[in-house]
Amino acid sequence: MASFGARAMSLFGRAASPEEEHDTATFEAMAQSAPESLGFDSTMLSETPIVFPSMVTLNPMEPPMSVDSLALDANEAKLQEKKGLVGSTGIVYDTRMMLHRVPVGDHPERPERIAKIFDLLEQHGLVARMVRVPAREALRSEVELVHESHLWSDFERLVALPPEELAAYNEALDKSASLYLNSYSTLSARISCGSVIEISDWVITGKVRNGLAVVRPPGHHAEPQSGTGFCLFNNVAVAAQSMLERFKEGPHRVQRIMIVDWDVHHGNGTQKAFWNNKDVLYVSLHRYENGTFYPCTHYGNYDQVGGPGALGTSLNIPWPCKGMGDADYMCAFQKCIMPVAYEYAPDLVIVSAGFDAALGDQLGECCVTPAGYAHMTHQLAALANGRMVVALEGGYNLTSISNSALAVAQTLLGEAPPMLAPQVCSSAAASTVETVIRVQAPYWDCLAATLPYMPCAPPKALEIDPRAAMAVQRSSTMWERYNMVNLPAKGPHQAPFAPNQILCSRSVMSADVSVLVLYVHDNGPLHYRDPYQQNAPGDPSTFVVESTCLVADWAAERGFAYVDFNTLAMFPARNWESSNQIAAVVPQDTPQEQSVFEQLQHTWANFVSLSPAKHIVLIGQGTGCKATMRLVSDAKTQRRVTAVVQVMGYNPVPHMYKPRALKQWYYDHSLVLCPNHHPFCVLGEHLGTSYRPGCVVQSGEANAEALLWTDKARILDFIAQQLDDAADARRVE
Ligand SMILES: [Zn+2]
Repeated sequence: MASFGARAMSLFGRAASPEEEHDTATFEAMAQSAPESLGFDSTMLSETPIVFPSMVTLNPMEPPMSVDSLALDANEAKLQEKKGLVGSTGIVYDTRMMLHRVPVGDHPERPERIAKIFDLLEQHGLVARMVRVPAREALRSEVELVHESHLWSDFERLVALPPEELAAYNEALDKSASLYLNSYSTLSARISCGSVIEISDWVITGKVRNGLAVVRPPGHHAEPQSGTGFCLFNNVAVAAQSMLERFKEGPHRVQRIMIVDWDVHHGNGTQKAFWNNKDVLYVSLHRYENGTFYPCTHYGNYDQVGGPGALGTSLNIPWPCKGMGDADYMCAFQKCIMPVAYEYAPDLVIVSAGFDAALGDQLGECCVTPAGYAHMTHQLAALANGRMVVALEGGYNLTSISNSALAVAQTLLGEAPPMLAPQVCSSAAASTVETVIRVQAPYWDCLAATLPYMPCAPPKALEIDPRAAMAVQRSSTMWERYNMVNLPAKGPHQAPFAPNQILCSRSVMSADVSVLVLYVHDNGPLHYRDPYQQNAPGDPSTFVVESTCLVADWAAERGFAYVDFNTLAMFPARNWESSNQIAAVVPQDTPQEQSVFEQLQHTWANFVSLSPAKHIVLIGQGTGCKATMRLVSDAKTQRRVTAVVQVMGYNPVPHMYKPRALKQWYYDHSLVLCPNHHPFCVLGEHLGTSYRPGCVVQSGEANAEALLWTDKARILDFIAQQLDDAADARRVE
C-alpha cells in the first residue's frame, strides 16, 4: 500500500500522474453521486484542489495505513535533507480533512477554515519556503494512548449509519456534545490527529526545526472518554503522549512537553488527559467569566493546578471578561508563562493554536492581532532548542484565522515579529495574572521569587485572619481618638463577626442627641508598596488605607452620635471596567451579604432604633451599600431615617425592588456617589429615570477610596439639606 500522504503531497509539486488523475476522477464521481444530506458541494472541487488518492480510503471501516508504510517518510526526509531543508519549517495539510462537514445547513467549524489558511500561505509564497510533511491517519493504538477504547469504535459505528439515521442522531449529538458527524468524519479526524503526530515526530527527529499543522477537526475539547465541542480526537494530547512514549530513550529523548493553548476556550480535554502527569505542562489562556463561558465548567479556573502527582503542571489564565488583546496576552506571557516555561525546560513545545481570540472572531469577542500571535510564537520558539509544533484548533472568522496563521508561519520561518503599537495591559488582565502567580507560586520557584514574601505555612501554625486583626487595630484607634466603645455582635459565636466589628460613640443614648450617623463600611483597601521605591526605613511592604475615620471626624465635629459598622470585607480597589459586573445586580444575596445584613438588622433593632436621636443618617460604603439599602427597604425603618448616602466602590449599585412609595422615598432621600469609571456610569445607566438605584451621581474621582475625601463637601451639603428639609416638615406638622 502506498503512502497516501506522500502521494498527495506530490500533487502540489508537479503534474499529477495518470494514475493520480484517475484517483481524483473517482473521487469526483463519488462526490457527485453522494446524497445531498452529506453536504457535498461538487462546486468545491473546481475551486479547491481536492486531492483524493483512493476509493479504498473512503471506507471508514478500513484499517488505517500500516506502520511499514511510514518508511516512505524517512526516504522523503533524506530527499529533503539533500535539498538542504534541514533546520526549516514543516507544514502538514491534506484536503481530506475537508470531507468532515455538517450534513445539513451551516456550521462555524467548516471545511473552508483550513483551505483559506493554506491558500493565504501559498499566496504569500510561504508554502514554497516550507517543507511539506506528509499527512497520515492516526493509528487506533496511538489514539488509545489518550482516549478510552470505546471512543474509536463508537465513532466508526456512528459514521457507518445510513445518512438519514446519522442526520437524526446529529441533532441529539449537537445538543448534548456540540458535535456533528458525517460519513467521512472519522477519516478526517484520523488524518487531523495523525498529521499532528507526524509533524511532531519530524520536529523531534530534526527533519525540520519547527512545524505548522493546518488541521481540522480540532481536538482540545475531546476528553479521554468522549468527543465534544467540535472535537473528535484530541490531536495535540495524542501527539504529546505518542512523543513521550516513542522517544523515551535514545538521541532524541523527550522527557517533558509544554502545551500552550491560546484558543479562546479552555482545553478541558487536554487538561484532563494530563491532569496527573508532570511530564506535560498544560498552559491555557481563555475566557472564563466564573465558568459561564464555554465549556462552562470550573476546570479552567486559576485554582485548577493539576493532580497530586503533578501540582502546578496545569496552569490556567482565566480571563474575567471579553475584549482581551495583545497587551493582555503579553502580560500573561512575560510575567507568568515564560518564567514557568524556563523553569520547566521542555524538550518540545506544542501550541493548541485556536485563533478564536483573534480580532474579528464573533464567538471569541477578543482582539488579539496577527502581530500579537507572532510575538507569542516568537517567545515560545526560544524554548526546547526551537522544537515547536503549532496545531490549529478553533477560530471561525476565515479572514482573522488566515491572517493570524500567516503571521505565525512567518515567525516560525524566522522572520522578526511585527512591532506592536505602544500599549499597556488592562487592569482585568493584571489582576488575573497576579492571582495566577499567587496561586501557582507554591509550585514554581520563579513565581514565588516575585512575591514580596515567600508563602510560608508550617503545619499547625496559627492562622490569623488579617481582617479581624485590622478590626482590633481600628477598635483601639477609635477608642483613643473618639472614646468609642464596642457594641456586642449578634450572639456570642456568630463567626465571622468579631467583638471589634461594631463601635459607637457614648452619646448614642443621650437624651439631648439630635442626629445619629450609622456608617456601614468595608475594611480599608490593602496596598502593596513598590519594593523598588526608596521608602523610609521600617516602612511595611503592605499597609491598609483607613479612610473611614473621616466620617467619624465629621460626626465628632458636629456633635453627632455615631455607630460604626465594619462589614470586614476588603474594599475592592481595582476597576475592571467590565459591564459583566452589572449582571451581578441581582436581588439575591450571597451568604456573606446575607450574614452582614442580619448583623446590621440586629444592630439596628437593639441599638440604633432605640436612640432618642430625632434624625438618623445612614452612610453605606463599598459592600456596606447593599446592606444599607436593604435596611431602608423596610417602611418602619424608613420612617426613622432622614438621609441615605451611598459611597460606591466598584461594587454593583444596589437596587430597591419594593413598592413605588418606598422606591420614591429612597430616590428623594439618597445620594449614591459612584467613582467616574463605575460601569453603571460608563454605560450611562445613572441617567435613566428609574428610582430603584436611588439618586445616582457620578463623581469626578476615579479612585474609589479617595472619593470620600474629594466629595466631602457634596456629602455634607446633602446631609445638611436633608436635615433642614426634615426640620421644615416637622414645623409644618
Ligand atoms: Zn475555541
